[in-house]
Amino acid sequence: MPELPEVETVRRGLAPVMEGKKVTRLELRRPDLRYPFPEGFARRVVSAKVTSLSRRGKYLLAALDNELVVIMHLGMSGSFRIESGALDNSPGSFRFPRSPDARHDHVTFHLRGEDGEWRIVYNDPRRFGFMDMSESGRLSENRHLARLGLDPLGNEMSAAALAECLAGKESPLKSALLDQRVIAGLGNIYVSEALWQARLSPFRKAASIVRGNGTPGTGCGRLVEAIRNVLGRAIAAGGSSLRDHRRADGELGYFQHELNVYGRTAVPCGRGGCDGRIQRRLQGGRSTFWCARCQR
Ligand SMILES: [Zn+2]
Repeated sequence: MPELPEVETVRRGLAPVMEGKKVTRLELRRPDLRYPFPEGFARRVVSAKVTSLSRRGKYLLAALDNELVVIMHLGMSGSFRIESGALDNSPGSFRFPRSPDARHDHVTFHLRGEDGEWRIVYNDPRRFGFMDMSESGRLSENRHLARLGLDPLGNEMSAAALAECLAGKESPLKSALLDQRVIAGLGNIYVSEALWQARLSPFRKAASIVRGNGTPGTGCGRLVEAIRNVLGRAIAAGGSSLRDHRRADGELGYFQHELNVYGRTAVPCGRGGCDGRIQRRLQGGRSTFWCARCQR
């Protein structure tokens, strides 16, 4: 499943191709993905220009110059492919070869800009992804976005803001961090990594890194820094070959070489001066990896 760094990498790959382009046609090859497409989707998008492609948690937001925003989520297996070339029937002109499983190409944005014609193809074999639409002024009321918590890479993410979200929470710290209403877009891998980096146990009470008066405790500042650092490094690793847009294919996998705890059961803890080993335990139905020696 694409996690936030992958979605951000996809955004960075797509933005230069989509921004400033006019939608000349929107091809929908089925009535739905995980949910039905919004009413009048193609009609409302065609002839509008994409003004920006941003991200909120794991949602990609394409703002149009007609006051509408297209909301896109990659689900479990969604990916975008960028094609250029004038005609569908001239394969030689494709910038990249067509995917062998073109039967999973469900949506194509046909775009036109000063640099020619482009196609942004959405492919999703399992169809857990979806697309929705909102008026730009009512974005915060959208059913997918309304309850989203802090964006871990956004300006609003700070020790004070996180402390406010975690104050009074009796749940384990890791479970609270996975709650999309607290932080939007943080998944199992990066939460495990951030907790290790911040030397915090996944099992301690969420509220334990908040002081009694609601201000951040010391661990809270460390955690915010660790979350930014872990995500930032993953994006940097994923973005290294952005120049040819290949990262927009979504097939990124995880940046295993960067991981310190996730999937590393019984491996010696990599923290200098710690002689612990990484352990694995099921927590809320998902694997938690941590070092009991140095994460408190
Ligand atoms: Zn350790």
